[in-house]
Amino acid sequence: MSQGFLPFTRPSIDEETIADVAAVLRSGWITSGPKVQAFETALSAHCGGRPVRAFSSGTATLEVAMRLAKVGAGDTVITTPLTWVATANVILEVGARPILVDIDPVTRNIDLDRIEAAIAPDTKAIIPVDLAGLPVDRDRLYAIAERRHLRVIEDAAQSFGASWNGRPIGNSFGANRDFVSFSFHANKNLTTGEGGALVLPADVDAGLCERLRLQGVRRFADGGMEVDVLGGKSNMTDIAAAIGLGQLKHLADFTARRRDLARRYFECIDRDLGLELPVADFTCSNWHMFQVLLPAGTDRGRFIARMKDLGIGVGVHYPPLHLFSLYRALGFKPGDFPHAERIGAAIVSLPLFPSMLDSDVERVCSALAASLPESA
Ligand SMILES: *Cc1c(COP(=O)(O)O)cnc(C)c1O
Repeated sequence: MSQGFLPFTRPSIDEETIADVAAVLRSGWITSGPKVQAFETALSAHCGGRPVRAFSSGTATLEVAMRLAKVGAGDTVITTPLTWVATANVILEVGARPILVDIDPVTRNIDLDRIEAAIAPDTKAIIPVDLAGLPVDRDRLYAIAERRHLRVIEDAAQSFGASWNGRPIGNSFGANRDFVSFSFHANKNLTTGEGGALVLPADVDAGLCERLRLQGVRRFADGGMEVDVLGGKSNMTDIAAAIGLGQLKHLADFTARRRDLARRYFECIDRDLGLELPVADFTCSNWHMFQVLLPAGTDRGRFIARMKDLGIGVGVHYPPLHLFSLYRALGFKPGDFPHAERIGAAIVSLPLFPSMLDSDVERVCSALAASLPESA
């Protein structure tokens, strides 16, 4: 397939998983059932035995975490401007307001040195994001959170399979008061098509989490039910969970292959092109994406079009969210977060997914050389 169009990402689903999904479809039970339970159990094992609940998306997962953390109207929540907009949208969704903190230009994650100055009296929580799968420094993050009594809701949508200090992301790196939210969207390192999972802290009732997931309903053994809390509708289906179970078997291989491909990029990208490369981390990161910054002055739209003509798909993750009109209407403006703005304007994601060949990396590197203005 080396000479066909190379997308920036593509899921790897094996035949066994496809057969398992077919078995669910034939079983007569296709919504939340035994597969979801098995998936939650397997995810819990991955997360050091902590309680895990599965959801229909990573966004729904984050929103329920906010409600469980009792974040709402009158509260502020600290996060990064360089993330998928879902991270900040859920803050607005529960009636709170985001406080954005500029990124560290090297890691492209929230700058931990700037967090404490941004904390306001009404700040309730921090949502760190592991952009491209490179973990935010958990030791420093939780030192701040504990010192300033803030709840942490890790948006680990991109870092499933990554680790910190040798333990997978999803384990607790705080005092077991942290939430960890995963997404299993089709582009993530582990997918269920659409889906998510929430790892719960020790002081949160998993039953309440389940009620917030499904209309607030509590069921009794005699067939009766009661509703005393407003829940949404964000349960996972057994169809999705069967995909997730099939994917989990390959997680270690997926991550190892992504790391190898990332190494190939470092070896193969011509340094004279002037691209800014990501942090060369081969221990913690799961290499969800391989993102480079185009040289100053490059027209990104033209670059993407040239790469496409050469058969290479390139992504943009992400425009800094404070410049979207929804967020400008809250008072954010150009110049607020200079690192996020410079990087958001120059960043591109190159193809990286487990079924890519080494020769595909070489193809991308040749296309880069042919697509940057100096060589046009
Ligand atoms: C994908 C993603 C989400 C949202 O996940 P969905 O499953 O698409 O709802 C949230 N935050 C980040 C950083 C993401 O990459």
